[in-house]
Amino acid sequence: MRKKVMMLTIAASIGMGTAFGGLSIKTEAASISKLKGDQSKIQEKRSDVKSGLNEANEKINSIKDQQAEVKSDMKRIDFAIGDTTTKMNEKTAKIEETRAEIAKLQEETKIIMERIEKRNVLLKDRARSYQETGGMVNYIDVLMGSSSFSDFIDRANAVATIMQADQDILKQHEADKKQLELNKAQVEKDLAGLEKMLADLEKMKQQLAAQKAEKDKLLANLVNQEQEEHEHAMDLQEQEQILAAQENAIQMSIKLEQDRQAKAAAAAAAAAAAAKATKAQGNASTSGGGGGASAAPPVSGGSFTRPTSGVITSGFGGRGGAFHYGVDIAKAGTVPIVAAADGVVYVSHYSSSYGNVVYILHNINGQTYTTVYAHMQTRMVGEGTTVSKGQQIGIMGNTGDSHGQHLHFELYQGRWAYHSAINPMGIVPL
Ligand SMILES: [Zn+2]
Repeated sequence: MRKKVMMLTIAASIGMGTAFGGLSIKTEAASISKLKGDQSKIQEKRSDVKSGLNEANEKINSIKDQQAEVKSDMKRIDFAIGDTTTKMNEKTAKIEETRAEIAKLQEETKIIMERIEKRNVLLKDRARSYQETGGMVNYIDVLMGSSSFSDFIDRANAVATIMQADQDILKQHEADKKQLELNKAQVEKDLAGLEKMLADLEKMKQQLAAQKAEKDKLLANLVNQEQEEHEHAMDLQEQEQILAAQENAIQMSIKLEQDRQAKAAAAAAAAAAAAKATKAQGNASTSGGGGGASAAPPVSGGSFTRPTSGVITSGFGGRGGAFHYGVDIAKAGTVPIVAAADGVVYVSHYSSSYGNVVYILHNINGQTYTTVYAHMQTRMVGEGTTVSKGQQIGIMGNTGDSHGQHLHFELYQGRWAYHSAINPMGIVPL
């Protein structure tokens, strides 16, 4: 039964094959030229598509090249702005010092002028007495009034001393005035020099800021052209770098936790042995102040504290078609950034997207957290530094892919992994 069906199928297909074979021979001449035409049309289309693709790829590559160029320019400008700001802060401090010196000199001048005034009165009195007594007469009177030779010598010495004193007063008078003028001239010259330097630096900073704004515009344009969503894109190399650093930080964090537990155990043992309920005092964290317009935010009581002061300008979540993996906090002036909790700094570098950025690994009651602080003007902690909650780690800035001064703050539960940040609201007091 099965064999018979198969045989029939074969026979049918042979018959059909012959029929189609005959048809194809008849139409061969016509169809070959048609096919050739189709083929060349397809090839044309393919080459169109191919050249279109090549063109598109070239365009994308050229945009990417331009972006890379703009980003490297931005990096250079960020560094230059950082450098200029540091110099300006130095000069401003020196100007304040010089102004204080001028104020001190003015105080000294007042004292010296009073002294000179007193001497003038003294010398005028003396001059008046010369006039009234006819110059040296009173000295001669003094000498003539001596009762003995030794008295005469004493009186002569006294007269000489008085005359010498008059000379000294005049000399001192001259010297004081000269010194005062010299000091004043020097300090005024210093101040003028410093003020000029500061003005130059201010101008340079403005120029750099203008350049940065220009680059921002250019980059925004290029990003639009590429139809990229505005998010913190991070290249693979940077991701790998962070992951590698994280491994070391975890080792360090484990060791710190072991040390802490060993210390706690030792303290508990010592306390038990002494049988005195002396409690080990927790170490207080210090908040770094640091000569800025703003003070560090007050350190709050929980495991986390607010990383900076200012207003929240962008929350966690969807933002203009892109996803915002952090919270932006903005404020003008010199604004300190502090560690949100105790931890280990494991990344402190410049990134073309995040600018000056610091990553901290925390161990809070057995749970690992990671916090990220981006776009800082200045980083104040290096990789491998242990920091305490509220300790200053930098100054708020506008570095990297940033439009306006702000802190971009990210929180991760557990280890850092690209685009896996969580909403810090409700965990970190923001
Ligand atoms: Zn942000």
